[in-house]
Parts: sequence; structure tokens; C-alpha cells
Amino acid sequence: MKHLDDLKYKGKTVFLRVDFNVPLDENGNIRNDNRIRASLPTINYLIGQGAKLVIASHLGRPKGKVDPKMSLKPAAKRLSELISADVFMAPDCVGEDVDRLKKELKSGQVLLLENVRFHAEETANDAGFAQKLARDIDCYVNDAFGSCHRTHASVAAITQFVKEKAAGYLLQKEVKYLSKAIRSPKKPYVAILGGAKVSDKIGVIQNLLNKADDILIGGAMAYTFFKAQGYEVGKSLVEDDKLQIALEVLTKAKEKKVDFRLPLDHVLATGIDKEAQIKVSESFPFPADWMAVDIGPKTVAEYSKIIARAKTIFWNGPLGVFEIDKFAKGTVKIAEAVAASKAVSIVGGGDSIAAVEKTEVSKRITHISTGGGASLEYLANETLPGIEALE
Ligand code: ADP
Ligand code: MG
Repeated sequence: MKHLDDLKYKGKTVFLRVDFNVPLDENGNIRNDNRIRASLPTINYLIGQGAKLVIASHLGRPKGKVDPKMSLKPAAKRLSELISADVFMAPDCVGEDVDRLKKELKSGQVLLLENVRFHAEETANDAGFAQKLARDIDCYVNDAFGSCHRTHASVAAITQFVKEKAAGYLLQKEVKYLSKAIRSPKKPYVAILGGAKVSDKIGVIQNLLNKADDILIGGAMAYTFFKAQGYEVGKSLVEDDKLQIALEVLTKAKEKKVDFRLPLDHVLATGIDKEAQIKVSESFPFPADWMAVDIGPKTVAEYSKIIARAKTIFWNGPLGVFEIDKFAKGTVKIAEAVAASKAVSIVGGGDSIAAVEKTEVSKRITHISTGGGASLEYLANETLPGIEALE
């Protein structure tokens, strides 16, 4: 895979795929511009090198139809405030008007294409559409790590129609940290896995069973593992069709001598709402109308000890229903333990990132991945379609 600095851009028309999938409020204002800011190093570098810069992104899921609520116009405006170059907004991402705008572009200017998902051919990875995107393009740069697990036209098929291609700084950085975590992690390597479902994470768990020394489980996922072993878990969230897989994971962990931990105590609640009653339980069965919503204090203490001696930490999935403050303690305490450790620490996953950012310790985490699904898939498969397309 070529790096951004490996190519020459002066006077060339460069197609840069970014992830400007920013959250918008009901008035179309950007609620958080982190994703735009994350691509600025690459954008500024290309402008500085004298590229004619064509930028493309998706936003939301317009399902192949034009939806003004998912226009990238607000992103164009925000981008023009963040960089010193001229930023023009294209009416579409392909077509005659767009081709003309591409041709008129001067070195150091930026043309932001409209949402690529306004065309169904984008998610279908359609070759004809990719060819239109690639029209008059000299170089392709991918800086959209968060989209690299998608085999979509602007991420995958397009690379067949452009001679020179490279990874942008953000993509390079993601690959650097994530590949370190899977290929040559410093030991002990501790993985913390939580969140709602075992099924979302099974690929990552299986990969981690070959790599990690300790796997600390929390979140609703833990109760599928408990139920699989015959414990009564009340009305805790369980995936009944994943009990067999859960047992297989437990067996494999034993075979591989992985220290696979489930919570020692549990915060139980009468429901997922902030008025619910809560209590801590250290044993089973849980009362039938109670459910686990967070890890308890004993678990926090035990997991924190293991985290303190780690050299590499990968964390995905909140350890409880962190959206509700009184169920967020376990997740917050574990975030603090991760931040306090001297390990290389990596956090991936949409909700996990939100949880860590809630704690104000995020600056002490080595790498917070910008891609939720992408980081998990990278850890499970050690590559991504968008990365392979750059080879
Ligand atoms: P990520 O987006 O980081 O990959 P997930 O989407 O897998 O994480 O999981 C996050 C969700 O899991 C959150 O909405 C959280 O409320 C939920 N969750 C965590 N623990 C529990 C629990 N014990 N019971 C129900 N939901 C839970
Ligand atoms: Mg999620």
C-alpha cells in the first residue's frame, strides 16, 4: 500500500475519499465536526502540494435517492471555514456538470462532490458508476478509514480505473495502530469486550482468542455466556440463538489458555430507565424481573488490576448501559483504568468511542479509532476491502 507522501500531486486531479458522515441536527447544522477535522492533515497536504482536489464522501443512508437532508453542503461550508483554500460544492458526484467543474478546478482548489450514496450504484460497487467517479482523475487517495469495511464504488471499484493510489494520513494512522495490536502486540495483551451482542463481535472474539492473554467480558454480552453455562439471568439481554457459540468460545479459551473473565458481580435493575430500582448481586439466580445493566464494584477492581499490568489494551463495547448515568459507573471506571495504564491502548466501536469521550480521559488513550465497524472488522480479518483495493 502506497502512502500519501509516495506520490506527486502538482497539477494533478486527485480524488480523495473521506468520511464526512457527520451528525446533523434537524436544521442541518453539524453537531460535531470531528470527522472533518480528522481529514484535515491529508487535505492540507494535498492542497500544499498543488493538487486539484476532488473530495467525495457519503452521509447517512439515503438508500440511492437524493435526500436534501443528507446533502454534504453543510460539510462544504464547514470545510471552507477550516482551510484557506476555495471550496466549491458540486451538484452531484457524477455527470456532465460535475465533469466540467472538475476540469475548471485549479491547483490548490477543492471541489466537494455531493453524497455518493444518492446513487444506488455506490453501495452496489457498480463498475460503470466507479468509472464515472474516476473520470479525469489522476490519483486516488483514501482517507475514509470508517468506510473501508464497505465494498462500495468510491472505496473499492474506483481503484480499478485510477493508475496511482495511496492511503491518506488518517488511514495510515489507523492501520499502524490496529495492525500493531494484532500482529505484534506487546504482552500482556488485554482485550476488553462489552456491548450488546455476542453476534456482532464473534469474529473479533475468535481472532482475539489467538492473540490476547486476557479477555475481560462485560456488557449484555456476558449474560449470553452465563446463560450458556446454565445460570438464571432474569430478564438480562441474552441472545438465545448464540448459546452454542458462547460455549464453544469458552472451551476454546480454555484450550488456548486464555484468561477469559466474566463479571464477578452485577448491577441489577428493574428496567433500562433512570427511575429503575438498582441493586448489586454477586450470585445467581437473578430474580426473574431484574436484569444486569452494569458490572459491579468487585468486577471493576479485578479488571482494573489486570488492566494495570497490560502492555497492550484493545477495548470494544461499553460494560453497561452507559447512556444512563447510574448504569455508567463500570464503563467510566474501566475507562479510567485504561487511561491510567502505561499500555498502548486502542478503543474502537461507535458506542465505545462515545463512552470514552464522556469520561474526559480520552486524551490518555493511545488511539481512538475513527471507525466503529471498520476497526472491528480489521481486527477480525486483519485487512479491509478498502485497504485491499489500494494494494
Ligand atoms: P460499539 O458501538 O462500541 O461496538 P455496541 O454497539 O456493541 O458497542 O454496544 C453498545 C450498546 O450496548 C450500548 O447501547 C449499551 O447500552 C448496550 N449495553 C451494554 N451493556 C448492556 C447491558 N448489560 N444490557 C443491555 N444493553 C447493554
Ligand atoms: Mg454500537
